[in-house]
Amino acid sequence: MKSCMRKIMTIGISLIVASCILSACTKQPVKVSATNTAMGTVVQETIYVTEEKAGAKIIREVQEELERLEKECLSWRMEDSQVSKLNKGAGNQEGQAVSEELYRYLEEIWQVSEKSRGALDVTIGSVVRVWDLDTWATCDEIEQSGFAVPDREVLEEYLKNTGYAKVILKDGKVYMPEGMSLDLGAVGKGIACDRIGMILKSGKDIKGAVISVGGSVVTYGSKPDGSAWNVAIVHPREEGSYMGTLSLQGEWYVATSGDYERYVEKDGKRYHHIMNPMNGYPSESGLCSVTILSKSGLISDALSTACFVLGEEAGLELVKEMGAEALFVTTDLKIIMTEGMNKYFREK
Ligand code: AMP
Ligand code: MG
Repeated sequence: MKSCMRKIMTIGISLIVASCILSACTKQPVKVSATNTAMGTVVQETIYVTEEKAGAKIIREVQEELERLEKECLSWRMEDSQVSKLNKGAGNQEGQAVSEELYRYLEEIWQVSEKSRGALDVTIGSVVRVWDLDTWATCDEIEQSGFAVPDREVLEEYLKNTGYAKVILKDGKVYMPEGMSLDLGAVGKGIACDRIGMILKSGKDIKGAVISVGGSVVTYGSKPDGSAWNVAIVHPREEGSYMGTLSLQGEWYVATSGDYERYVEKDGKRYHHIMNPMNGYPSESGLCSVTILSKSGLISDALSTACFVLGEEAGLELVKEMGAEALFVTTDLKIIMTEGMNKYFREK
C-alpha cells in the first residue's frame, strides 16, 4: 500500500515537473517597445523578453546608461563631461587624465583617424562650431535665409586648431594643444550602441532586440519566429522612403552618415554637417549616404563618417582593411557595395 502511494506521488510530481518544463518551453517571449530621447536624438527600442517586467527594466537601464555616457563622458555641451573638461584644459603641458573608458574610446578613434589619413578627425570641434549646422538645420526656411557661409580666412584660422596627429595619448593622459576642441559627434551614437549591446548580453531574460540611437542601430539575438531583423536604409533624397533593408541575424552594429540628416541650402547648394577636415568645408566626395555594418558600434560609426569624407575608392579600401561591410549611395543615387554586403542587403 505504502509503495503504491509512493508510486502515485512520484508519477504526480513527474507530471507537474513535465508540465512546468513544457510551459516554460512553449511560453513565447513578449515584445516590449519604447521610444525615448537621449544624446539629442530619438532612441527606438524593440525587445523580446520572457516577461514584460524584464523588458521595462532593460529600457530603464538603457536610458540611464545613455544619460551617463552623454553627461559624464562624451558631450562637449555639458559642462561636467570629461570631453568638456578636456576642451577647457587644452594646452595643459602636464596632460589631462581621463577615465579608462574614455581613454579606450580615444585610442580606437585615433586608430581610425590614422587609417583614414584624417578623414575622421574628432579634433574638428572648432570648425564644426563656426558652421553651427546643428542649429541652422533645425531652423525654419525664413530663419535659414539668414545663414551665411563662413569666410575662407576664418575657416583657415580655426583649422589651425585641428589635427588628430597633434594629440598625444599616453599612459591614460591626453595632451592636446591650446585652442583645440574635441567633438565626438561622429562616434557617440556608435559608442552608445556598444554600451546597449553590453546591457543586452548581460540580461538573461532577453531573447532578441533591435535598438536604434539616431542613425546607429544594434541588433541582438532573434525574433521568436526566427526571422531576421530588418534595418532600413533611408533614401537620401526621398523623405520618408528607403533604399532597401539589411536582413540581420544576431549581434550587429549598423551606422549611416548622410548629407540629408542636417543641412541648410543656400543659393542652390547644400551645406551639410559632415566636414572635410582638410579644408573645413562640408565634404564633397561624390557620396550622399554611407552605411557600415560591423561587429562594433564605435567602428561602424567612425567608418561611416570617414568613408563619407574619403569617397568611393578610398572608402572601400578602408572598410576592407577594417573588416567591415559597406553600402555607399552616390550623389547620382547609384548604390555601391562591398561584396560581403550583398548577403544582407535587399533593394526595395
Ligand atoms: P556622423 O553623422 O556620424 O557622420 O557624424 C557627424 C558629426 O560628427 C557632425 O555633426 C560633427 O559633429 C562631427 N563631424 C563632422 N565631420 C567630421 C569629421 N570629418 N570627423 C569627425 N567628426 C566630424
Ligand atoms: Mg559616424
